Amino acid sequence: MKYALVTGGSRGIGKAICIKLSQMGYVVLINYASNRDAALETKSIIEENGGMAELMPFDVSDKQQIENTLTAWEEAHPAEYISVLVNNAGIRKDNVMFMMSDDEWHSVLQTSLDGSFYLTRHLLKHMMPRKRSGKIVNVASLSGLKGMPGQTNYSAAKAAMIGMTKALAQEVAARGVTVNAIAPGFIDTDMTKDLAVDELKQLVPMGRFGKPEEVAETVAFLVSEGANYITGEVISINGGLYT
Ligand code: NAP
Repeated sequence: MKYALVTGGSRGIGKAICIKLSQMGYVVLINYASNRDAALETKSIIEENGGMAELMPFDVSDKQQIENTLTAWEEAHPAEYISVLVNNAGIRKDNVMFMMSDDEWHSVLQTSLDGSFYLTRHLLKHMMPRKRSGKIVNVASLSGLKGMPGQTNYSAAKAAMIGMTKALAQEVAARGVTVNAIAPGFIDTDMTKDLAVDELKQLVPMGRFGKPEEVAETVAFLVSEGANYITGEVISINGGLYT
């Protein structure tokens, strides 16, 4: 069995990644924060297509929940390990900086950045031993490359994930683990449904928002054998919005 853990797999981009990885033969561990119905729907889609999945709820910003959940999983699967980790869970709490609350700042960083750190630190120990390997994909954002006004918290979190990706890639390259990031532009999910879509899509050279499935294809490539020599990279998926 090959296991892949996708954080925030209940909805949007994470859901599409779960479905794609299951099509590649992975047993998918679907993490989510609170939306059990949506996570069950992801699981059903996978199973209807002949794949295998388990729900793995926890708050990625809660170190103790992560440790408890992963330790329980490891005790139940003593001969196996999670070889693919997609750090996808993320939230947006936009505000201009001079009005930004402590919670708006910290919760966004804790979800994307701290969550990725806690999970990666734990799972790396199981990926690095001899005769094993691992693939880590961090879901950053165009906002972390370019900086977006009104999103200093989110841009900081995503830029930090990119720095973490590049540093860690070099740390673990000799241990058979690759670490890459993707930087989506505007993707059609719940996260972007409150935006002025008609105005924003005019800024995109392709004239439209991306689909979650188009993001999942890049993740699939990065975890495939074909990407074995790629590490420390950031791949943009943005319809030409920022190159
Ligand atoms: P979404 O539709 O809002 O879905 C967010 C997912 O993250 C849900 O599955 C949610 O679980 C989960 N989540 C949120 N907080 C969590 C926590 N503390 N612990 C565990 N899971 C948590 O978002 P999306 O658009 O698919 O975004 C996915 C990732 O892509 C995010 O990191 C986002 O920053 C990034 N991204 C998105 C876009 C875009 O345009 N959509 C662009 C660039 C980057 P529940 O269902 O339980 O709430």
